[in-house]
Amino acid sequence: MSAAPSSGLPSPQTNPEILYTGVFINNEWHNSVSGKTFPVYNPSTGEAIANIQAAEKEDVNKAVKAAQNAFQLGSTWRTMNASSRGNLLNRLADLMERDRVYLASLETLNNGKPYSAAYAADLELSIKCLRYYAGWADKVQGKTIPVDGSFFAFTRHEPVGVCGQIIPWNFPLLMQAWKLGPALATGNTVVMKPAEQTPLTALYVAELIKEAGFPPGVVNIVPGFGPTAGAAIASHKGVDKVAFTGSTEIGHLVMTAAAQSNLKRVTLELGGKSPNIIFKDCDLDHAVETAHFGLFFNQGQCCCAGSRIFVEDSIYDEFVERSVERAKKRNVGNPFDLNVEQGPQVDEDQFKKILALIDTGKREGAKLLTGGQRYGDRGYFIQPTVFADVKDDMTIAREEIFGPVQQILKFSSMEEIVERANKTIYGLAAAVFTKDLDKAMYLSQGLRAGTVWINCYDVLEAQTPFGGFKMSGIGRELGEYGLQAYTEVKSVIVKMPQKNS
Ligand code: NAD
Ligand code: MN
Repeated sequence: MSAAPSSGLPSPQTNPEILYTGVFINNEWHNSVSGKTFPVYNPSTGEAIANIQAAEKEDVNKAVKAAQNAFQLGSTWRTMNASSRGNLLNRLADLMERDRVYLASLETLNNGKPYSAAYAADLELSIKCLRYYAGWADKVQGKTIPVDGSFFAFTRHEPVGVCGQIIPWNFPLLMQAWKLGPALATGNTVVMKPAEQTPLTALYVAELIKEAGFPPGVVNIVPGFGPTAGAAIASHKGVDKVAFTGSTEIGHLVMTAAAQSNLKRVTLELGGKSPNIIFKDCDLDHAVETAHFGLFFNQGQCCCAGSRIFVEDSIYDEFVERSVERAKKRNVGNPFDLNVEQGPQVDEDQFKKILALIDTGKREGAKLLTGGQRYGDRGYFIQPTVFADVKDDMTIAREEIFGPVQQILKFSSMEEIVERANKTIYGLAAAVFTKDLDKAMYLSQGLRAGTVWINCYDVLEAQTPFGGFKMSGIGRELGEYGLQAYTEVKSVIVKMPQKNS
């Protein structure tokens, strides 16, 4: 993801129509079995904008049944050419391209992220992710193996079956694409639950999935809450695999539910407290700007946010001063305005959690240099905030804030920095800024994280795997590695005749 260019973008629809609010099963729209609905909000104003059918256990049961039927041996989906599955994914990408302005506008309305970013980053990367996995559909192949004895052995990479996919609200469309791409390329069927805060774009994409021509039941989308719809997916005996992105806290619950029900396969993409290490020999202008981007992008609501910035002592004061200057210039406001860099946080819960953590930072002695408060008097906006003199054991250096709050720490030696950077329960990402190749390559080995960026941040392209060490998760998404979670390997062994009979 690179910073979105604010010029040259097509204008947003500032009041995009909300067309789909139901439960999507078998390519049809349903009301919830219970009849319950829930409101979703515009975080720029706090106003409710739609009522969504609230899926619960019964709805999940229906969706799983549909996904199981679509997965039956001999079904349209199971007998389809692998290349045709690729064509369907490309067709879906085409439809998202066609409706790109609308989808980006709807994402902005419901999530609060700047339209410029929704258009240039979220839509761009979602479409590219679907196309990337479309290309894999007919290239997932097994091996022939020289087995001992007179046998012919080969492996098949088969789909796992019904995949439950539970996604968060920070990148609604992108997380949907990261999950659907590899699952559908490899021939699985899906029951997906979007986050309760942001179901609108996922539901619109459901209609595009139908329009693209995916057979009924291949993708089912059940909007609803975590403890009801989410838990029903994680604990369902008819679900063969669950993929979850969200908090580490709920990751524990999902894995426990999987263990206690049917040992379904589990992949988790969880939180982070990623170190960003700035050496005195870096390009300082670039490091300041990229560290700013790596923390503040998406209102700070990124699992891989560079939220522990370690700066070498001799440039510490200058780095802090320039970071504060940059944060003060950050343009906060109406996310439909093309010049705005920062919109509101996603909801009131997140807004309150972030403000509480800012208070904790002040109380524990970190130096608040700018921001620290609500921005404006409406919606869930927070001022770009910078803390200096942050110490490793402070709460704001240990816990995920998931907001526009930058923590800057000081270090003085290579010996110390590896240990301090790794002293966290998390291991999602890390970054190093230096012109010294040896330092960069040494740290690329020493940092215990699923991604290490060198002189860059948040480069998240479909070709490279992404995921966590330690409590940041299990498994990898994206790239060729991302296919593994969606395939079972089967060995087929055939007796070979020894003579012509
Ligand atoms: P969450 O983990 O509760 O929600 C993520 C998804 O899990 C949502 O779809 C939610 O409905 C679902 N869910 C919730 N409880 C569930 C359960 N018991 N069983 C199955 N699914 C369940 O995240 P949140 O409460 O929205 O945010 C809390 C914190 O999590 C944030 O402040 C942030 O630190 C972190 N977070 C991380 C990511 C990420 O990208 N890794 C995304 C969102 C939030
Ligand atoms: Mn939660």
